[in-house]
Amino acid sequence: MKNSLRKFADSDLDQLDDDDMTEGKISGQISRLIDSTDSGIDVFEHGTVISVGDRICRVKGLADVMSGELLDFGGGLTGMVMDLDEEIGVVLLGNDSHLREGDEVRRTGKIVSVPVGDAMIGRVVNALGHPIDGKGRINTDLTRNIESPAPGVLHRKGVNVPLQTGIKAIDALVPIGRGQRELIIGDRQTGKTSIALDAIINQKGQDVICIYVAIGQKESTVVDVVNKLKRFGAMEYSIVVSANASEPAPLQYLAPYAGCAIGEYFMYNGKDVLIIYDDLSKQAVAYRELSLLLQRPPGREAYPGDIFYLHSRLLERAARLDEAAGGGSMTALPIIETLAGDISAYIPTNVISITDGQIFLESGLFHAGVRPAVNVGLSVSRVGGDAQMGAMKQVAGTLRMNLAQYRELQAFAQFGSDLDESTQKTLNRGEHMSWVIRQRQFSPVSVPDQVIQILAASEGFSDEVPIERMDDYLEKLVLYVKTNFPAYEGEVMTGAKLKKDSMYLLQTLIREFTDRYLDKVKKASADEEK
Ligand code: ATP
Ligand code: MG
Repeated sequence: MKNSLRKFADSDLDQLDDDDMTEGKISGQISRLIDSTDSGIDVFEHGTVISVGDRICRVKGLADVMSGELLDFGGGLTGMVMDLDEEIGVVLLGNDSHLREGDEVRRTGKIVSVPVGDAMIGRVVNALGHPIDGKGRINTDLTRNIESPAPGVLHRKGVNVPLQTGIKAIDALVPIGRGQRELIIGDRQTGKTSIALDAIINQKGQDVICIYVAIGQKESTVVDVVNKLKRFGAMEYSIVVSANASEPAPLQYLAPYAGCAIGEYFMYNGKDVLIIYDDLSKQAVAYRELSLLLQRPPGREAYPGDIFYLHSRLLERAARLDEAAGGGSMTALPIIETLAGDISAYIPTNVISITDGQIFLESGLFHAGVRPAVNVGLSVSRVGGDAQMGAMKQVAGTLRMNLAQYRELQAFAQFGSDLDESTQKTLNRGEHMSWVIRQRQFSPVSVPDQVIQILAASEGFSDEVPIERMDDYLEKLVLYVKTNFPAYEGEVMTGAKLKKDSMYLLQTLIREFTDRYLDKVKKASADEEK
């Protein structure tokens, strides 16, 4: 009885019709309200706190409680059920300073959920979906459980629509398709976040909703990210979910699932989503901390036994759905930080095996000025090939091969001084190609432009151009081709391969421009000598 009354008090009194308050009707309305009060799960069930500390508490007396269920401790404090032992292990999702041994705890019958919907776009929220950007309430009634099963195999479609990052080294060599999971992996300060942000910025006007999940980062770094996104107009289609380093481990553990649930809502409604988890190493550390506090047995590197499942159940939720399931897609770019380039450590190998490929960033390259510092040999995209545009496929094949050859020769050539002509030629070509795939931050390049630049270098048109003039050369070359071949961009964007005569025209234009450019360079240097 006590419980029914409590539920009745919780029920929505707005249902009552104020204007029509004759006595008979009031009692009728009240009995209707009582009937409609949901009595599915018995919230009457309450338990008692037996111990509390380190954001963990143990509870007894809740026999039917579910794993992942939200418990109400009163005073606005909630907790999530993690262990279903005799004593239930609960992680606390808020300030627990008022919680004492012997306090009462109630079931809610609900799994932890976050608000979802269009109103989330442009907002910065915490791991529970509460706004932290000072812009007030988020106007949505929709919520979604943060944990839900991944779409089944039958409802998945092949990955064959590209997700352009605007980064040449990635779109040409490790293409990403919508619905793919591509890992960005590398040491500290190797440009991991920058790649993710560039990818978000390049989605402008592409009808892709972007979600950036910051886990265990400094607050100032997150503010910086938000400001950058704002500066490039990317917050208009983005959502930032943040559980920064100062927040308790449970929230850092939950943040990726919260971001994923927010993305799923759009995916199941037919939209395309790009989600970044920056980074999952920190989530794993937060989960390890929780697990040790819950006294679960530690395994390798002190991580609990289900650490693989932690990441697989998250990343499996990225997919491209068929029309029956909603038709949207969610592309995931998880980030993992390595120590001294060791991609064979426990967490990196786990996540590598769950994803469809990895972009490996190397600090050696980064410090040598090769930025983005993508290691071409170790980076792969296992499914994105189908999603690459035809024209890009035509030019990228030689690029990868020639670059690999160049890197090999380069290592070897360091020791010898007199190199034969053909070796010198390969080295020179390689140098030009590496230059082409270098790129500054926040300067995405469109696919048609990428194709021109890559073709110029990999087919050797740019061999004679002095390296220090390459940037200038490439910029003017693109302009020249597009002015003299107006139909070019349209043809590339159809996604089909370039027709034979188009390819011929493209090459002719590149040759023409290069000849003129080299003449000018020669003249300029002759003038200087005088
Ligand atoms: P952390 O491990 O601290 O998260 P990170 O791997 O995410 O670092 P970023 O923060 O993306 O690395 O980049 C590190 C620095 O390198 C930044 O100062 C950034 O401006 C610079 N940087 C990244 N990419 C490029 C680029 N393509 N060209 C020039 N500078 C770059
Ligand atoms: Mg970073």
